[in-house]
Amino acid sequence: MVHVNQTIPRSERPLYKSVSNARKPIAAIREEELGPDGQLKKVDTLFLNNKECPFQCVMCDLWKHTLDEATPLGAIPHQIDIALSTLPSDGQVIKLYNSGNFFDAKAIPPKDYEEIAKRIAKYERVILENHPKLCDNRVLTFTRYLPDSMAVELALGVETIHPIWLEGLNKSMTLDDVEQATHWAHGHGYDVRAFLLLHAPTISKESDDQAKVSLETMRSWTLRSVEWVQKMGFTAATLIPLRPELLPEGTGTAPSVVEIEWTVSQAKKIADRMRLFVDCWDLEPSESLSRLNAEPPRNLTR
Ligand code: SF4
Repeated sequence: MVHVNQTIPRSERPLYKSVSNARKPIAAIREEELGPDGQLKKVDTLFLNNKECPFQCVMCDLWKHTLDEATPLGAIPHQIDIALSTLPSDGQVIKLYNSGNFFDAKAIPPKDYEEIAKRIAKYERVILENHPKLCDNRVLTFTRYLPDSMAVELALGVETIHPIWLEGLNKSMTLDDVEQATHWAHGHGYDVRAFLLLHAPTISKESDDQAKVSLETMRSWTLRSVEWVQKMGFTAATLIPLRPELLPEGTGTAPSVVEIEWTVSQAKKIADRMRLFVDCWDLEPSESLSRLNAEPPRNLTR
């Protein structure tokens, strides 16, 4: 039996939290990203520091940059002020990423929503990461403070559509939850983007056999996941190469650059209506991956 590390306290894992200050954001960066209209947009990504995510997905080490306690009131608007003061003022899109889920009330206090909305009102689009099970009235409570002209996009960690591996990630969700969240978001006029693993770990909560699947099979499920999110009406998907440091042995390996390039080029052929990106974490993407990232789909959805 492959053990899922859901019961291992963070303190007993091989990685530790970095020093954390609720009054300071983790980072703020300016990048360019292809927008839904096929034009390159100036995108400001803010990495906010807040209460650790209550989900404990096996492949995730984002908790290293989080607080142990609930985020104090006023800390997030203050962090946004600091982050924006370090960036040029002509940003078009803002990503508020918080190493967790924006609509987790202990991470981002709802009493701060109005102040947060005021600070980002100049942008044409906001992208918020969120768990499918937290896509409900909480989102509406925040977005009513935003200007009507501002597009809202929810970034969901879909990870993989393989039902056994998805369960093995310990993400506490099923594909039905993703479908339901997507329909709900579309019903309220929000766009949805996906994070997908390249390649998902092959963990099963029931059997060891899943730890022995071939590279071909893993590739195939990554590509099927791309196909599925496009069919569901996602407007963008980001493939994220697996970092296996936290996984049970034998259930996943870090893909090589060649493997990433091959899979992304195949995924691009499938994603003919949806923007497809690859995010190589701290690694500088190769020339070929940068070109693939900037390449619009053949038929944009809008
Ligand atoms: S929900 Fe997201 S942030 Fe939370 S543990 Fe899972 S992958 Fe990490």
